[in-house]
Amino acid sequence: MKECDSPTFQLATEQFERAADALKLDPNLRERLRLPQRAVAVTIPTRMDNGNVQVFTGYRVQHDSALGPTKGGIRYHPDVTLGEVSALAMWMTWKCALVGLPYGGAKGGVKCNPQTMSRNELQRMTRRYTAEFVSVIGPDKDIPAPDVGTNAQTMAWMMDTYSQQRGYAIPGVVTGKPIVIGGSRGREEATGRGVVTVAIEALNMLKIPVKDTTVVVQGFGNVGFHTARTFHEKGAKVVAVSQSTGGIYNADGLDIHALMRHLAEGHSLATFPGATPVSNQELLEIACTILVPAALSEQITKKNARHIKCKIIAEAANGPTTLEADQVLEKNGTMVIPDILANSGGVIVSYFEWVQDVQKYFWEERDVRERLHHIMKSAFHRTVEFSRNNGVNMRMAALMRGIDTVAQAHLARGLYP
Ligand code: NAD
Repeated sequence: MKECDSPTFQLATEQFERAADALKLDPNLRERLRLPQRAVAVTIPTRMDNGNVQVFTGYRVQHDSALGPTKGGIRYHPDVTLGEVSALAMWMTWKCALVGLPYGGAKGGVKCNPQTMSRNELQRMTRRYTAEFVSVIGPDKDIPAPDVGTNAQTMAWMMDTYSQQRGYAIPGVVTGKPIVIGGSRGREEATGRGVVTVAIEALNMLKIPVKDTTVVVQGFGNVGFHTARTFHEKGAKVVAVSQSTGGIYNADGLDIHALMRHLAEGHSLATFPGATPVSNQELLEIACTILVPAALSEQITKKNARHIKCKIIAEAANGPTTLEADQVLEKNGTMVIPDILANSGGVIVSYFEWVQDVQKYFWEERDVRERLHHIMKSAFHRTVEFSRNNGVNMRMAALMRGIDTVAQAHLARGLYP
């Protein structure tokens, strides 16, 4: 599928090929799994506030449904392409399988700049996007969630549009929606909490106390903020954070709650008192215990990997590290907790949300947190064990375990017709 070509898709397929080699994967399955099961592109004519119509392009890619309905976020960003969405959908497949969820992988996206659009424009675009996919998504088919540039409000509009078309409320069609319409307690912070859970397990392995830990977070959006906040609350020192416009640094640690209040009052990151502005490039190279890329893909590259001075990289973003950078980091002894493991907290609590919606029985936040912690901790240790037993790094171990589970499901189901 030539249309899928993009650096992110090449990264995802090359990772897959390497893991498939190591698994000696059946050649037919390999051919099937390196491409999406289904990829749909739509045009989204949207009435803008000035009365003109702007036509956006949107995608939904379902990579594989052998284990269950497909699941994955919706991204609103100017750089969205079919290739990027396909890569993200593939990573969702391995992620769900790795942590034992009954889901396949999917992803969606619209090429747009949500920063420059009004709330009404975003609402109209989201509703039209959803209407185009009414026959493609569904609580037993394919279940979207938030990703970069989308949030609980976007999910509420999607849930409402889908429900209006079907004639009754169907909360289970999306996850990450507001609690009042069937969202789960603990979903918004789940990805960040999960990142911290596995990072603390890694610190324990390296015998580094949390209170002696310094953290740098690239990307201060949903995932980056909750990661920084949770580290801060557990006693680690968050020394730097960034947004697309640049970052800030304070060797004594940033007060994350105060920073959040500062941003909520409409101030910029760069004007936070007591912090020094840093560029995104400088931020990645700050000496620290844990570096958390929590923005976009391909941020840690051949160029900057050798300047990275952390002990652990916890990949909150999807695909933040290129293949060449992986080799440099491995040589330098940096421990990389791969994306499909480190950021799986989001889809795990999305699964809890979907279960609650289907059962129409809602859990206490304590239950959500405990179950999330249990699943992530055991997925981390099983991946470490697989990595040691098979002499492969953590990324390869996570990919091999995820891909093998999906392959087993295909072999058990057989080929139709
Ligand atoms: P978001 O839109 O809430 O935040 C993204 C943040 O990254 C923003 O603060 C933005 O300013 C910043 N950013 C963008 N480009 C940057 C750059 N070059 N340098 C520094 N910062 C930059 O998105 P999110 O939901 O927090 O997602 C972040 C990452 O986590 C994505 O890779 C996403 O796929 C991944 N992820 C998200 C979830 C989830 O539950 N939301 C789950 C798993 C993985």
